[in-house]
Amino acid sequence: MNTTKETTCPCCGEGSLRTLKRDYIANIGEGQKLHVPNIEMEVCDKCGEEILSLESARAVDAAIADHTERLTPNELRELREQFGVDQTEMSEALGLGGKTFHRWEKGTQYPSRSMGYYLRLLREFPEAFEWLRSRRWKGRNRHVTREQSPEAEMQQRFPALAQNRVRLTTAMTDRCNYAMVLLVVQ
Ligand SMILES: [Zn+2]
Repeated sequence: MNTTKETTCPCCGEGSLRTLKRDYIANIGEGQKLHVPNIEMEVCDKCGEEILSLESARAVDAAIADHTERLTPNELRELREQFGVDQTEMSEALGLGGKTFHRWEKGTQYPSRSMGYYLRLLREFPEAFEWLRSRRWKGRNRHVTREQSPEAEMQQRFPALAQNRVRLTTAMTDRCNYAMVLLVVQ
């Protein structure tokens, strides 16, 4: 009876599990899947449930971390502390669910590959974080009218320009995205 119990699928309770090695298809977020080759697993012959040993699960996790160039929980915490916000504020700024950043720092969930790129971009260009956090594009939509010249629009968005407190240099174009827009004013 013990043998039967061990091989019965815990998911459907009907099929039997058999051990085999094949590609494990991991869901890595944003509709993307990663094929991890040669993973040992138990598969139910009825419902198809795949059961991975701890060792196999670790191998899959390592493959995903490598493929997604995953940021570590420590890196994520340092990134957030760089901006001086708590986990909830960080989630909100990024447009994520309130607990998401908390889960990333705990290591129970991970940012996707594209989110990892985006977070690295913010780390490199911290001034963009304030722009993001204050949803500066909304202000732009509210205030810009068709009659405005690009110069007037830029002066409204960046009052420092109108007051000649900021000098535009080509070096700025290397520093951040909207510096490209600032070129319009020159
Ligand atoms: Zn089953």
